[in-house]
Amino acid sequence: MTLALSIVGPESAADVHDLIHAAFGAREAAGEPLDPPSTALSETVESVRASLEEHGGVLALRDDKPVGSLLFEPHDKRMGMRRVAVDPAAQGDGVAKALVRRAEQHAAALGYPAVQLQARAELPATVRFWVYMGYGEVDHDGTLITMAKELPFTVHTVDADQTRAVGERLAHVVRAADVLILSGDLGAGKTTFTQGLGAGLGVRGDITSPTFVIARVHPTLADGPALVHVDAYRLGESAELDDLDLDTSLDDSVTVVEWGSGIAEGLADERLEIRIKRSRDDSDERALAFKPIGARWVDSGVHAAVTAQ
Ligand code: ADP
Ligand code: MG
Repeated sequence: MTLALSIVGPESAADVHDLIHAAFGAREAAGEPLDPPSTALSETVESVRASLEEHGGVLALRDDKPVGSLLFEPHDKRMGMRRVAVDPAAQGDGVAKALVRRAEQHAAALGYPAVQLQARAELPATVRFWVYMGYGEVDHDGTLITMAKELPFTVHTVDADQTRAVGERLAHVVRAADVLILSGDLGAGKTTFTQGLGAGLGVRGDITSPTFVIARVHPTLADGPALVHVDAYRLGESAELDDLDLDTSLDDSVTVVEWGSGIAEGLADERLEIRIKRSRDDSDERALAFKPIGARWVDSGVHAAVTAQ
């Protein structure tokens, strides 16, 4: 059983049309008509062909049989997705996830910093799916929720100073109440990165591995937010950031959590995950993979800021 995903054009109009009708028709048949009704069922092969001709789409084939599709629709600085359809017989098999991942890859390759779609408030399971995929609500109009996501990206550095410089540039876009989750092996460069961030924010105190304390507060020397530097390893699995008894409010600080991977999800719904990886050989090269989660990062300019020369 193999799932093949491809970017398609008008040649796939008939398959995509059939998938849209199968997926959206099943919902109506299940006695969950939407008000106002979805316009998906008024799509014709012709209207689907015109859309594919203009913007393209994604088609998922399993063992050569069409099982899922979506249509692209650019919106200014974000690539839009619509008519996300999964064959009812293939639901729950990860087809939707694979479709969306492929669409996000395509949007990134075209240079879009973000992606978006519209979901219906009456379909909470659908909304939960998008939240799980890292999307957050950016607009709400009646029952129509616009959800968007800033796309992940990776930055490469060749020495510690470059990693510090990336952190320093990130300081331009972070603000009070932001939560950053740093993960990566011991010696990957999490603390080094945080030093750059602290320098960029203009905070007081040396930033060192917080291994012997759970959290350290670095107050600002300028008029920006403080930096709260947390060691989640010592924080434990089920901890909450709010349980930290700090003499500053997290709402007034930028919070950086080292070793956050795995427990990150419980710490903050909206967060910027940064995973630092060494290269396979013994060089000083590092890959810093940024994964913005939630509406906070949409249109934040995080990608442009971090990669600015
Ligand atoms: P962590 O906090 O992830 O355990 P540290 O930042 O404390 O890691 O240590 C990283 C070590 O690796 C430092 O000694 C740093 O000088 C060194 N280093 C070498 N190359 C890099 C790089 N490209 N990025 C970050 N650190 C690097
Ligand atoms: Mg460290």
